[in-house]
Amino acid sequence: MKLFNTLTQSIDPFTPLKQGLATIYVCGVTPYDTTHLGHAFTYVSFDTLIRYLEAQGITVRYVQNVTDIDDDVLRKARELNMAWDELGRRETARFLGDMDALNVRRPDVYARATDAIPDVVEIVQDLVEKGLAYVSEGCVFYSVKQDPDFGTLGRAIGLNDYQSMLNVANERGNFPEDKRKHDPLDFVLWQAQAPGEPAWPSPWGPGRPGWHIECSAMSIRHLGQQIDIHGGGADLAFPHHACEIAQSEHYTSKKPFSQFWMHTGMVYQDGEKMSKSLGNLTLVSNLLKTYSPDVIRVTLQSHHYRQPWECTPEDLGKAQETIELFKQVRCLVGEESHGEDAQVRALFQQAMENDLDTPTAVSGLREAAQTVIANRDLNAGAEVIRQSRVLGLCI
Ligand SMILES: [Zn+2]
Repeated sequence: MKLFNTLTQSIDPFTPLKQGLATIYVCGVTPYDTTHLGHAFTYVSFDTLIRYLEAQGITVRYVQNVTDIDDDVLRKARELNMAWDELGRRETARFLGDMDALNVRRPDVYARATDAIPDVVEIVQDLVEKGLAYVSEGCVFYSVKQDPDFGTLGRAIGLNDYQSMLNVANERGNFPEDKRKHDPLDFVLWQAQAPGEPAWPSPWGPGRPGWHIECSAMSIRHLGQQIDIHGGGADLAFPHHACEIAQSEHYTSKKPFSQFWMHTGMVYQDGEKMSKSLGNLTLVSNLLKTYSPDVIRVTLQSHHYRQPWECTPEDLGKAQETIELFKQVRCLVGEESHGEDAQVRALFQQAMENDLDTPTAVSGLREAAQTVIANRDLNAGAEVIRQSRVLGLCI
C-alpha cells in the first residue's frame, strides 16, 4: 500500500516496522463540546484505513487519546457550573456514542491525559536534564532555540522560518503569550497550577501537563518508542505534531518517532472551516436523525481524506443512492454463499492501495453494483457486499 507522508510530502510505500503489525496513533478530541462532521471525517478516515489494513491480514494496534484536562475543558466547565471531570466524562461518552453509531472501531487503547501524568513527568524531567527545557515559575517550557531540529514537519508544509512558524502557532492559539516564557515560540510542557484549578504533584510544584506532551507520553507508553502512523486533522501538523516529534525524539533518542504522518483535510461550512469556536457546525447527532450511519460514512468516504471539502445536501443524496444500490445487491445475493469476483476486488484494492483513494473505491463499487443489478452476476454482487464491509458499511 502507498500512503502520502506529510513529512516527506510524497506518496511512499507503507511497510510496518514489524512485519504484520501496524501501530497507529491518532490524536483524539478535547471533550468539552459535541462531535461535528469534521471530527467524523478524521475518525472515519482512519477507521477505513485500519479496516483495510486488517482486511489485508495486518494486525493493527490503535491508540487514540482524549485530552480530558486543558484550558477549554476548564473554561467550559466553569461556564456550565459543572465539575471539569464530569464534563469530560459526559462529552467523552457522547463522542464515543457518535463514533459507535458510525461503526467506527474503538481504539485498542483509549488513553486519557489524566492517566498519563507519571509518564509526562518522566519525559519532562528528561528534557530538562538534557537542557532542552527550562523551569520558570512552576511551569516547564520547551526551549525551541536549543533544538536545531525543531519544526521539521513545519518546514515540510512550507513554514520555512521562525516567523512563519510563530504566526501559525499564534493563529491556532496553540502557543499563548506567557511572560514566563523566554521565547514566544517556546511551548509549555508542564503548566503550574492556577488558583482554583485541578493539579497533580510534580518536581516543579503542583500543575498539569501541557497539551502536546500528553500525546508523546501516551504514544510511547502504549505503542513503543517508534510507531508506524501518527495521524490527525491537518491543523495538527503544526505546531502540535512538530512539538510531539521534538519531545519524543529527544526523550527516546530514536528517529523517526513515527514513520508516517497522515493528516485529514478540514471540513468547511458556508466557506469557513467547521469549528467549535466559529459555531458553524454540522453535528453528527443531528445528521443521524435524518440519515443512516451507512449514508454518512459513504458521504465522508466519497471525499479523499486529504482534501478539504464542504458538505452539501447533494453529497448526502448521492451517498443515499449508493447505499440503495448496495441494498438492492444485498437482496439479490441473499444469504447463500457465492464465489469471488477478482475484477471487482482488484479495482477496489487498487484504489485503496493508492493513498486510500476511497472516492474511487466507492464509485467503483457503485458501478459494479449497477452492473450486478442489470446482469444478476451473483459472484460480483457478493464481492460488492464483501468490499463494502471493508469500508465499514453494514449493508
Ligand atoms: Zn496529539
